Amino acid sequence: MKALIVIDFTNDFVDGSLPVGQPAVDIAPRICELTEQFVASGEYVVMAVDLHEEGDPYHPESRLFPPHNLRDSKGRELYGQLKDVYEAHRGSIYWMDKTRYSAFSGTDLELKLRARGITELHLVGVCTDICVLHTAVDAYNKGFDLIIHEDAVASFNPQGHEWALGHFRGSLGAAVVKAE
Ligand code: ZN
Repeated sequence: MKALIVIDFTNDFVDGSLPVGQPAVDIAPRICELTEQFVASGEYVVMAVDLHEEGDPYHPESRLFPPHNLRDSKGRELYGQLKDVYEAHRGSIYWMDKTRYSAFSGTDLELKLRARGITELHLVGVCTDICVLHTAVDAYNKGFDLIIHEDAVASFNPQGHEWALGHFRGSLGAAVVKAE
């Protein structure tokens, strides 16, 4: 069994307060396409979405980044068409708040995956070298097989993006794939 994990594809991370910018805009159609495909074939789909509280002095990211993905903000809504795709399939997509880079950190993601017998994770979203990377590292340590969709991950940092793709392949044993 496999699952698609869509990581942090929100307004703030695409063109908002902590933007990846054009590389994220460019992968939006492919993320929508993969989401539709996984839903259509009855596979498990997770929207893993960063959540922050305004002015939280205890959150480590408060010292690292400007405010982003604040609860109930427009910036935390899914970007572009993905929002419509999600709304159309709400019943079959798991919306999962997360508060750290990794989708496994402080969430019930592993329990949900194990309960469904899922062993293969397909990762898409942003940023390749931060939240996708940390999620992939945790997934590797937990023994999941990894498929990274090269045409559906992006970063503000081109070198970081390339480095992470190499790390997925060479150190995490992931298949790094793209549409023909
Ligand atoms: Zn964050």
